[in-house]
Amino acid sequence: MPPGRESGWPAEGSKRTGCQCAKTLAIPSARTEERRKRNTICKTPSTIFELARRTLGNAIACPDPKSITKIVFTHAHPDHIWGTIGAGGTLNFPNAAYYVSAVEWDFWMDPHLTTKLPEQMHVFVTGAQTNLGAVKDRVTMVKPGDDIVTGLSVLDSSGHTPGHISLLLAGSEGLLIPADAITEPAVYFPHPEWQFAYDMDNGAAVANRKKLLDRAATDRMKMLGFHWPYPGLGFAERKGTGYQYVAAA
Ligand SMILES: [Zn+2]
Repeated sequence: MPPGRESGWPAEGSKRTGCQCAKTLAIPSARTEERRKRNTICKTPSTIFELARRTLGNAIACPDPKSITKIVFTHAHPDHIWGTIGAGGTLNFPNAAYYVSAVEWDFWMDPHLTTKLPEQMHVFVTGAQTNLGAVKDRVTMVKPGDDIVTGLSVLDSSGHTPGHISLLLAGSEGLLIPADAITEPAVYFPHPEWQFAYDMDNGAAVANRKKLLDRAATDRMKMLGFHWPYPGLGFAERKGTGYQYVAAA
């Protein structure tokens, strides 16, 4: 990410439409099954996918940003919130309400945070404070156990960041959204005990990663991963001392 962009990364986000909602959980106002599927596609994030989307033009339909009414921040890392505002400082999703864990908000909005983190993290702080600050009048603080809406509940998965949350969507087979509690499935499914360099509290991150995988495997629950191979949907099956990732058909 380019340092020094106070408005957040990528600055050209204001010129994009639709899929810039990557890595947030965006809830459209009209929740038809078709719309839900399209949003799931659009939320599967990666630069590669974004490039693919541009290449494909409008082959993959994305919702109008004005139709997004709720956005959940699982945590405040650059690749999850820096699309909140565009280069001109305006909100990319002008009609949305925002949800973030109170712990996460308090951590990143600490005015003295840069004095507590190494210099290479300062750009993270600047970006978080700029993007979170832009929605301070629209944000609802949540905690594990809360419902964002009926059927969408907040799970504790702190460790990656102090207030990182995962999400559980109720339904026939359910949908567990671990966010960055489980990043690369080829690594962390078989070895949930391995540490991830960007986890801020390794002990908590490993414990919560194990807890999420155990729950997903026990309940045969579908999972959606923000950093997983497209389309980011799969299951956890027990294998040896860990798990294997099985992509959803
Ligand atoms: Zn992250």
